[in-house]
Amino acid sequence: MRRQLVKVVKGMPTSDGAGVKLKRVIGQPSMPDLDPFMLLDDFRNNDPKAYGAGFPPHPHRGFETVTYMIEGQMEHQDSAGNRGLLRDGGVQWMTAGAGILHSEMPKQTDGRMWGFQLWVNLPSHQKMVPPGYQDIQSADIPEVVGKGYRVRVIAGEFEGQAGAAKTLTDVSYLDVHIDGGQRVQIDLKGQEHAVVFAYDGQTKVSTDESESETVSDGDAAILKGEGAITLYSRNDARVLVIAGAPLNEPVARHGPFVMNTHDELVQAVEDYNAGKLAPNQWEFLGRQ
Ligand code: MN
Repeated sequence: MRRQLVKVVKGMPTSDGAGVKLKRVIGQPSMPDLDPFMLLDDFRNNDPKAYGAGFPPHPHRGFETVTYMIEGQMEHQDSAGNRGLLRDGGVQWMTAGAGILHSEMPKQTDGRMWGFQLWVNLPSHQKMVPPGYQDIQSADIPEVVGKGYRVRVIAGEFEGQAGAAKTLTDVSYLDVHIDGGQRVQIDLKGQEHAVVFAYDGQTKVSTDESESETVSDGDAAILKGEGAITLYSRNDARVLVIAGAPLNEPVARHGPFVMNTHDELVQAVEDYNAGKLAPNQWEFLGRQ
């Protein structure tokens, strides 16, 4: 199937963690998931009261969480002993795998905090891999600069440039900056599910089939099928292009766990309650 525009979704206001206000793009009623992506949040707040409580310790199993900071500082700590400071333009790619507990807490008391969190599902044979963590500083994210555009390659590949993150599955994560009046073509080989999320300005999203939709700040275009995507912006704009090959496996999800079957979900909850979701689980909670 040639790539088609399926629909445009708007981020839905909600809150998560200890009351951080955010907009949920994927993982909401009108877009529950886009295999393999289970969630995409835009947390963007100028008011410390709307973000100060952060994301205190909580568990995950069966997938990966990817946090991309645009502005602000958050400290990450996890039960595997990792600790890192997420700063402007940096990315943290965390593989929860068999189980991890982590916290993400603001290290700022004023000013804007703005970032995105993506959940990347793992196939059944990788759900129980040991947890992993990649702390990627902004300066280590390669950029491809072309006529009227700049593409930060967080994961996957663009114009032969490999992304900064090592990924377990076939996914791309691009931050695309387009100058006014310019266009850029993004070829996403084999990655049949794609989301183009506008986070600054307005961008026209077109397929090879000459379909097009315009997305404004906070909107996401959802695309399925094979073929390139062309982005055009009348004025300067920034969008995230996130794409992946669908896993095509059953999904059983409950809160912070994403598994294949109900029994595996029950097991995750039992393991967490017994302190066995991750090594050092109680020790990590006790330290917080
Ligand atoms: Mn989390």
